[in-house]
Amino acid sequence: MKTEFSLAQLADPDIKEADKILRACVHCGFCTATCPTYVLLGDELDSPRGRIYLIKEMLEKNRPPTEAVVKHVDRCLSCLACMTTCPSGVNYMHLVDQARVRIERDFRRPLMERLLRGVLARVLPEPKLFYAAMRLAYFARPVAALLPSPSVSTTKPTLLRRLSAMLALAPRDLPKPGPAAGQVFAALGRRRARVALLQGCAQQVLAPRINQAAINVLTRHGVEVVLVKDEQCCGALTHHLGRDDDALARARANVAAWSAEVAHEGLDAILVTTSGCGTVIKDYGYMLREDGDFAAPAAKVSALAKDITEYLAGIEMKPAQSAKGDIVVAYHSACSLQHGQKLTAIPKDLLSKNGFVVKDVPESHLCCGSAGTYNLLQPDIATRLRDRKIANIASVKPDMIAAGNIGCMMQIAGGISVPVVHTVELLDWATGGPRPPSN
Ligand code: SF4
Ligand code: SF4
Repeated sequence: MKTEFSLAQLADPDIKEADKILRACVHCGFCTATCPTYVLLGDELDSPRGRIYLIKEMLEKNRPPTEAVVKHVDRCLSCLACMTTCPSGVNYMHLVDQARVRIERDFRRPLMERLLRGVLARVLPEPKLFYAAMRLAYFARPVAALLPSPSVSTTKPTLLRRLSAMLALAPRDLPKPGPAAGQVFAALGRRRARVALLQGCAQQVLAPRINQAAINVLTRHGVEVVLVKDEQCCGALTHHLGRDDDALARARANVAAWSAEVAHEGLDAILVTTSGCGTVIKDYGYMLREDGDFAAPAAKVSALAKDITEYLAGIEMKPAQSAKGDIVVAYHSACSLQHGQKLTAIPKDLLSKNGFVVKDVPESHLCCGSAGTYNLLQPDIATRLRDRKIANIASVKPDMIAAGNIGCMMQIAGGISVPVVHTVELLDWATGGPRPPSN
């Protein structure tokens, strides 16, 4: 694609990067076929190619974002299916991230929307605030019956529909908190490695059992696990809201905390059980590339970051304790894992090796609609995607559904009675841990 940035514009490293990305696009349109919003809505402007044109126009002309740019960029899930499909290697992720930052900076949204986004950016990354919000949402659940359902077929995300979606996602009960930051879990038997495990923000409130399962599996296989004390939310949630100051501050704090741990007792890896977070941590090196103090340590942190399944596939796991051959598991491939980190076969292979009958889900490349805060901000499209995903999952008649991302787990569990568990919970169960709970 031909671009027309001036030399002055190209002096800005972000514009230089955007220019490189745009020039790689040959507008072939292959990406449209796998884009969930294009598949649902059929509008070129809701396809990757259409969004690329809109972003190009905004950046080249150095114009404030128009209503159209905001509408179609907001509808993008950042699922990155387009990057998997693109034959030219267009880095859509870095382009749309830049567009979101510009929208946040230069576009004045309606007051209620600004307030809502502000609350989400403040509450979701802080476990104590998130816990309080979930309790509040539980007591407000009776109100949900009075609000419009998010499943009505429209793409207009009104405030009431968004509130309805938020209440629908709030769980009835919240589990007891998991292990506290700063704890170290010793390897059982001879220590073969030492890793940090990302504690996460929303996940540690909603399902601390996931990281407990990871700790069980790792220590059982001779890996010492540390929950690094000064770690924070990875910044993915605010990054996807275009609030880069917040996201980059969190990235720097985590790079500092993990680098200190590396210098102190050493780390062989930084493990992540929420693939949405893993994708962003693996991108810290890029996000902080212009930061003189943090560029090099951030690149090292990104190189150490691994999804839990990626790490377990690299160590010799003990044979499964009991055959689980009668349990059919539908594997839901989270977008951040399959498109963001290109990890597709590994989780399924681990489950198969540990005795489960693993079934692929039809249309597995299509997002379930969770996508960070997407199901809260675009509940109508998100609900349509979820219903489509659930119909595909149900077609393989599973006993359980496995996924590697808490957002997907909550989204899918909201529409099906089959238990939805994390892949590592099944691996823990197969190697001697407890059976994961039903929904
Ligand atoms: S597939 Fe790639 S090159 Fe083709 S239009 Fe989409 S982004 Fe551009
Ligand atoms: S990230 Fe997903 S929703 Fe956004 S343009 Fe690409 S395929 Fe479409």
